[in-house]
Amino acid sequence: MITRFAPSPTGPLHLGHAYSAMLAHDTARAAGGQFLLRIEDIDSTRSRPEWEAQIYEDLTWLGITWDGPALRQSDRIPAYRAALSDLWERGVLFSCTCNRRDILAASTAPQEGAEPIYGPDGLIYPGTCRSAYVDGAPFPDRAALRLNSIVVRDRLGADTELAFTETGPDQQTLVPASLRDFASTIGDIILSRKDFPGSYHLSVVLDDAHQGITHVIRGADLAKATPIHVLLQKLLGLPTPIYHHHRLIRDDAGKRLAKRDDARAIATYRREGASPADVRQMVGLNPTP
Ligand code: GLU
Repeated sequence: MITRFAPSPTGPLHLGHAYSAMLAHDTARAAGGQFLLRIEDIDSTRSRPEWEAQIYEDLTWLGITWDGPALRQSDRIPAYRAALSDLWERGVLFSCTCNRRDILAASTAPQEGAEPIYGPDGLIYPGTCRSAYVDGAPFPDRAALRLNSIVVRDRLGADTELAFTETGPDQQTLVPASLRDFASTIGDIILSRKDFPGSYHLSVVLDDAHQGITHVIRGADLAKATPIHVLLQKLLGLPTPIYHHHRLIRDDAGKRLAKRDDARAIATYRREGASPADVRQMVGLNPTP
């Protein structure tokens, strides 16, 4: 078993991150497997070296050890670019110049006659730039690129399975998904941005494969993105790991913890004298792994 923790260095780690990291770490160690660390720093405007340093410090304090050096996504640009250029050559991407406002305007245009539909990435892209794709055009290096969900469905077939194995403490289930509804419920997802050659979905899929991840352990909020990842794995010829989407840690009002929720930062608990065992207990884990 090889699993990982993949935080973004855009703020302090809070109790939810601690739970995710400890669960993945404990699971790997109990199975005699490996636990890897990946720094997801593709958002260059929000990522900060000091948050990355804080991640190492917090994890170490929690008693977490990772195998080998951490993989930083900002060091993986050549791999992302190679995959994008391959997909571009295969005609499954198109470049997109729409901003959020354009997308909202096109989705609510009177002739569309329908309420805007939201998918895992927000508003479903209405397809505005899809027809601007010119067969054989050179790979555009600094453009936003979207996956053409219609072309992909036609090429692979609507019956293509995007199901994945979800594993719980004592059983595995198959979560059904297929390419049939992808265009209408998920749409033309962003695979590259103007300011960074890659997106969350592309980089996570390429890096999980690159790091040999067999088990992805992450929060339940990401479960809706998993069929996207399975589709990209199929397109790129990569294996699909087994997934475990764990419960989310909520605040007293039942709200999911957010990065800006500094009050729940691991560093704050630590400063206030809590021990790693206290943190384990707060998130419902045994005081010792
Ligand atoms: N970087 C993501 C986050 O901090 C996690 C990505 C993943 O586990 O797939 O929420």
